[in-house]
Amino acid sequence: MSEYDVIVIGGGPAGLFAAGVAAEQGARVLLLEKKHRCGAKLLITGKGRCNITHDEEDPRRFCEYFGRQGKTLLTALYSFGVAATVDFFEQRGLPLQRERGGRIFPTRGGAAEVLKLLLDYARQAGVEIKTSCPVAGLRCEADRIRAIETPSGTLRADNIIVATGGLSYPQTGCSGDGYRWATASGHRLTPPQPALVPLQLDADWTGELLNLNLKNVGITAWHNNKPVAERFGEAFFTRHGIGGPIVLDMSAQIRDALQQGPVELQLDLKPAVSAEIFDQRLQRELAAHSNKNFGNALSGLLPQLLIPLFVLLSEIPVDKKCHSITKQERQRLGSLFKNWRLKVTGLDTPERAIITSGGVSLADIDMRTMRSKIINNLYFAGEMIDLDGPTGGFNLQLCWSTGYLAGINAATG
Ligand SMILES: Cc1cc2nc3c(=O)[nH]c(=O)nc-3n(C[C@H](O)[C@H](O)[C@H](O)COP(=O)(O)OP(=O)(O)OC[C@H]3O[C@@H](n4cnc5c(N)ncnc54)[C@H](O)[C@@H]3O)c2cc1C
Repeated sequence: MSEYDVIVIGGGPAGLFAAGVAAEQGARVLLLEKKHRCGAKLLITGKGRCNITHDEEDPRRFCEYFGRQGKTLLTALYSFGVAATVDFFEQRGLPLQRERGGRIFPTRGGAAEVLKLLLDYARQAGVEIKTSCPVAGLRCEADRIRAIETPSGTLRADNIIVATGGLSYPQTGCSGDGYRWATASGHRLTPPQPALVPLQLDADWTGELLNLNLKNVGITAWHNNKPVAERFGEAFFTRHGIGGPIVLDMSAQIRDALQQGPVELQLDLKPAVSAEIFDQRLQRELAAHSNKNFGNALSGLLPQLLIPLFVLLSEIPVDKKCHSITKQERQRLGSLFKNWRLKVTGLDTPERAIITSGGVSLADIDMRTMRSKIINNLYFAGEMIDLDGPTGGFNLQLCWSTGYLAGINAATG
């Protein structure tokens, strides 16, 4: 007889939640985590604020955010969906609030509080947690996993849940171990790729604008004179390019377009007004400062940090008086506001992606239980399966929903 009913590998949100759910069913559960503490990636979610879920409560509409294969999530969402997630956290004393775009965050404490709550939940349910325990491999015989190899010896359990995450931010413990075990035991793998990833730009100044938040901007990505993606919202410059929610959400389409050829971004810093209306505003602004140097006349239109760059890119001498700026110069300046063109040189490195798309093929998982169709006592949960959503709390909801199904079924299966 095994010492444990369930062993969970991976102490991220999916693994911790699955472990707690299984233990609540009465199973003897051990969770193994490679790092010295659980939830390293969870701690950096939502810039430390943790966007726990999204307020789209209708499972069918929620699934649509996961694209073509999204419907496979229906059972998981009907079993433990958005409303159940909100209840879970609130009933345990962590109030949540809905923010712009339907994103749901804790009202206090952020990601650290979410992690603490999950650890308390798992421990109180009876989960034994072993950290600094990198699982080296799974020993399979026929259609079962017979043993789990760890640095401190071989462990056995009736059922195993693998929740080892993707490939991004490797310093959080994610190095694709689960993908290797899945392929070694006969599962198909959709090639893992960086998703929700910042872009690199052909611009040497982005590192100087790291503290600049571009709120309410429009970005259109162009390839072959055709728009391939368009978003409105928040973005920011990174050391080598541009990131932020709207850029991340466009990155999959941009990745595909880059494989066909060059891609250019068109930034619209004033998306609420047409180019003509903005030109009138610019004329008024220049007239109001007619005897001032041009470089000192832009503070009503631009964040302070951007002014030196715009002066440079407009090629208008910084000390030119506003009244002597030509129509051509004004139009050149106006087009920086409404039609700022930036050449994309590539995606940022996979390590800086928010999510890894691809993963264990859904064709090899029974998505009603999260059980493998190949190995009878193996379950999967979280980012490592071949599903990924946009920013907005969708990816953590995937962890709660699939973690729940895996936990319940591994405990009772
Ligand atoms: C910067 C950033 C911000 C994000 N913000 C949000 C957000 O606000 N909202 C949202 O919905 N999503 C967000 N995400 C995505 C979200 O973090 C992931 O979807 C989620 O963490 C995946 O959970 P998981 O449990 O599947 O895997 P992970 O969180 O990656 O956890 C996997 C765990 O398995 C462990 N492990 C790996 N290999 C082994 C092994 N061999 N032995 C033992 N343990 C092992 C790892 O150490 C790790 O702790 C963000 C991601 C990043 C990088």
